[in-house]
Amino acid sequence: MNDIDRVMQNAQDAFNSYKILTPAQRAGFLNEIAAEIEAAKATLIPVAHEESNLPLPRLNGELSRTTNQLKLFARLIEEGSWVEAAIDTADKTRTPPKPDTRKMLLPVGPVVVFGASNFPFAFSTAGGDTASALASGSPVVIKGHSAHAGTSQLVFEAIQKAIVKTGVHPYTVQHVLGSGSTVGKALVIHPYTSGVGFTGSFSGGKALWEYANRRETPVPVFAEMSSINPVVFLPDTLKQNAVALSKSYAASVTLGMGQFCTNPGLLLAVQSEALDNFLSLLGAEIKQIIPQKMLHSGIHASYHKALTRALSQKGIEKIGESEQEAGEGEAFPTIAKVKGNIFLQNPHFREEVFGPYSLAVCCSSKEELTAVLKQLKGQLTTTVMATDADIAANRDIIDLQTTLAGRIILNDVPTGVEVCASMIHGGPYPATTDARFTSVGTTAIKRWVRPVCFQGFNDNMLPDALKNPNPLNIWRMVNNEWTNAAI
Ligand code: NAP
Repeated sequence: MNDIDRVMQNAQDAFNSYKILTPAQRAGFLNEIAAEIEAAKATLIPVAHEESNLPLPRLNGELSRTTNQLKLFARLIEEGSWVEAAIDTADKTRTPPKPDTRKMLLPVGPVVVFGASNFPFAFSTAGGDTASALASGSPVVIKGHSAHAGTSQLVFEAIQKAIVKTGVHPYTVQHVLGSGSTVGKALVIHPYTSGVGFTGSFSGGKALWEYANRRETPVPVFAEMSSINPVVFLPDTLKQNAVALSKSYAASVTLGMGQFCTNPGLLLAVQSEALDNFLSLLGAEIKQIIPQKMLHSGIHASYHKALTRALSQKGIEKIGESEQEAGEGEAFPTIAKVKGNIFLQNPHFREEVFGPYSLAVCCSSKEELTAVLKQLKGQLTTTVMATDADIAANRDIIDLQTTLAGRIILNDVPTGVEVCASMIHGGPYPATTDARFTSVGTTAIKRWVRPVCFQGFNDNMLPDALKNPNPLNIWRMVNNEWTNAAI
């Protein structure tokens, strides 16, 4: 038995024990992980800062977001209605007789989570993928990201303390480090792996998806990969609000040195004097941004390469870049523009440049802007900046945007993703491998479950969520009516 076999055998053993815990026990475990991470904050933050180059205020905020996510999932499973219990009682008088059928969501089994480099806490070891999988009743094997291996190990130690304190199976969460193409691949193709969560590059996510689909028994890979998050600026708002819009857009493009999956990489508008004015204001804003170190040398090298390639395309024109020289490992914030007809002819312009860069596409007409939107691939977000008059005249543009992304935003920037029940952080391929799910917010739990129908079971054999007296006091669909009453 090799190391990965042992890890996955342990995970499978943990599944058999963990899946039968009560929701309150699982919630207690999630809350205890949050408490242990908070207790380790003074140790965690400096290590994460050293490894990721991210500023301390950002890391403090991200750590709180991580523990709040864990507590949010704890509340979700304590409330309990997320299991989508549906009950149709028997009717022996019907011809043919109707059986008693009861459905709920059950955990899939061991889940492999790849830590993301750009969120060392919130999308990593105890991040959203781990929290949602544990909430569902699935054990987790984390493949830590090498760019913050020390942080990942420390967070895992906090999880281990929570395991001991709450007495859950010792292998409910495991942590491995190593190369993606060896260790990561071996985890994904292992027969006991039931699902995979990933945030990172398109090539990485696609490779994991392919490993999983070539298995004898394919399993789902929920990979959040590549998105350029187009923002449409409509004409009236450009006339009315150019100064405020240029400031908020520049801040969004350069937030965290552009290392967010929701970074606005594309700006679309119809050519006008107001657009020229807005772009010169935007260029002036970008000049003032001070370059900062990126997450790791690989991401810095990728940014530099992708930016150089983008700026060497025919028809592109720089409209603003940081006035300060970039030091070693630092990203150079840049805004460029291109005409709509040139954009339409060159697929390179549609590729993600991961970092503080955005491309303005200046279209000759609304028809050309529509053609550009239609040509774009699936996105995590799309935004429309508009006045009421703009909205009245451009419903078709907004309808088109709704087909493009998992989240459509009106008059706000796409960076900043609220963790809540209504959030969708997902979108059509290649933004993710499965547009039906989100990786942020409580419905992220749906990635790690499958519906099971129990037919003809006695009450004492059913899971609590489906029993007649409704001991968990959850909302259920009983004979086509929502109720939390007993049967
Ligand atoms: P990455 O290269 O996709 O790596 C993420 C994780 O996946 C790492 O653990 C990596 O293992 C593993 N992996 C990558 N390729 C693999 C393969 N072919 N087979 C198995 N495992 C594989 O992402 P990154 O290191 O965070 O950053 C690299 C680039 O990804 C960035 O420059 C940026 O373009 C993009 N990125 C995008 C987002 C987004 O949200 N859209 C977020 C972060 C990064 P190793 O440790 O062996 O590399």
